[in-house]
Amino acid sequence: MSREQQAVARARKAFETGRSKPLEYRILQLKNLQRLFTDKQKLISDAIKKDLHKSTEGCQLYETLGVEGEISLVISKLKEWAAPRPVKKNLMTLSDTIYIQPEPLGVVLIIGAWNYPWAVTIQPLIGAIAAGNAVVVKPSEVSAHTAKVMEELLPLYIDKELYPVVTGGVPETQELLHQRFDHIFYTGNSVVGKVIMEAAAKNLTPVTLELGGKSPCYIDKNCDISTACRRITWGKYTNCGQTCIAPDYILCEPSIQDRVIEEVKKSIKDFYTDNPKTCADYGRIINQRHFKRIMAMMEDSTVAAGGENDESDCYIAPTVLRDVKPEAKVMQEEIFGPLLPILSVSGLDEAIKFINKREKPLALYVFSHDNKVIQRMKDETSSGGLLANDCLVHFSVNSLPFGGVGNSGMGCYHGKFSFDQLSHLRGCLIKKLNMEGVNSMRYPPHTAQKLRWARLFILKSVDLGWMGRMALLSIMAVVAAVVLQNYLF
Ligand code: NAD
Repeated sequence: MSREQQAVARARKAFETGRSKPLEYRILQLKNLQRLFTDKQKLISDAIKKDLHKSTEGCQLYETLGVEGEISLVISKLKEWAAPRPVKKNLMTLSDTIYIQPEPLGVVLIIGAWNYPWAVTIQPLIGAIAAGNAVVVKPSEVSAHTAKVMEELLPLYIDKELYPVVTGGVPETQELLHQRFDHIFYTGNSVVGKVIMEAAAKNLTPVTLELGGKSPCYIDKNCDISTACRRITWGKYTNCGQTCIAPDYILCEPSIQDRVIEEVKKSIKDFYTDNPKTCADYGRIINQRHFKRIMAMMEDSTVAAGGENDESDCYIAPTVLRDVKPEAKVMQEEIFGPLLPILSVSGLDEAIKFINKREKPLALYVFSHDNKVIQRMKDETSSGGLLANDCLVHFSVNSLPFGGVGNSGMGCYHGKFSFDQLSHLRGCLIKKLNMEGVNSMRYPPHTAQKLRWARLFILKSVDLGWMGRMALLSIMAVVAAVVLQNYLF
């Protein structure tokens, strides 16, 4: 048995003991996980500094704060989320007990990406534990220091049989994908997303795919361009542009392009000084392969700001590209680096057409004072999430579903959405063995008369309080008796 097979078999066996199910056990595990983030903050931020040159504060702000907040939310809400959820009934089922019972799916595989390695790996893990599953955690091998720390720390804090960590690259992930899971939660690029889905299809395993793509950013000429550019600069260059929801490119009218460039340059200087290379808050490209990929994207475009780079340090300065054509290299795939292309459009209509001609993005940004502009952008396009007059912050709102649509992914998570995504929502109807007369209308022989009654009983949905239900039950009992006596027998 390979290491991967062993981990999955152990997780399945542990799941079968039933110990992941009691709410107290789930909460205990989540509290232990919470402790990991207070005890081991330094180890976590040292590793992430080595991987991505994130500062200690940046590590907390962008990685662990959100995870800690998510754990607190889940601990306080789990009882409510896991409880049976009563639903509406029709007349036919009025006297039955009907509800949705969330139940664990079984063994979940979580495959993480490298750009926010804690956030994108641990956040789904929280949902999976909360939902009562066993989980095999596969951190990205690309953020190698973090993967190692995760592999060392998780077993010290949470049940190592129920939640094993498997490290490794493509061969190890492929080996995992040969195993049978009850759900696969993948974060990464769309090409590998298809590989995951194909492997999952062999066992009819459901998948959540948290992918990326080119998230557009439209700046209306009638807006506070200075504030808009400050927020866009933050959204773009955080983590050196390696953010799945970073604004990928700007669409604006040619008349404001120069102003946009000046304002972005000003914000770059404010955030990262005149020399971002020596600034503790400016990141690095994860590795040389990605460095070369990003540098090649600049080749046929005009640099308006930045452009400096150092391959030995995986450094690319915050860069703005002007008058970029839709055919340019930088517009052919997700940039995932610190390049900000500006493309000209004649106005909102053309911006909407431009966006709709391409794959549905993970995020869509619109900056405008005019609510009608925001409304039209919302009504006439589609994307995973939509944000007006800011960037990235929707990720931190755990009452919003986070996820893509079409090429940017399927399924969603955060807060209760994670819990639901990684649960089976089981429909339950508990009937008593009395009141058989009411059922006669659905038993053969079928007649027009019975059908008339069935139409009434099935099509009428009821949403009554306790008193109403009692009153209706009495009426139903009388009706049933009359039906029984006069029509059906
Ligand atoms: P990556 O290289 O870390 O790959 C992700 C995972 O897939 C890793 O664990 C890796 O081991 C595995 N993998 C890679 N190739 C594989 C293969 N051929 N078969 C099986 N497994 C394989 O990360 P990446 O793909 O470079 O991540 C960047 C992408 O992820 C971007 O497109 C970004 O937008 C997206 N992303 C999305 C979100 C989101 O929440 N939607 C978050 C972060 C990143």
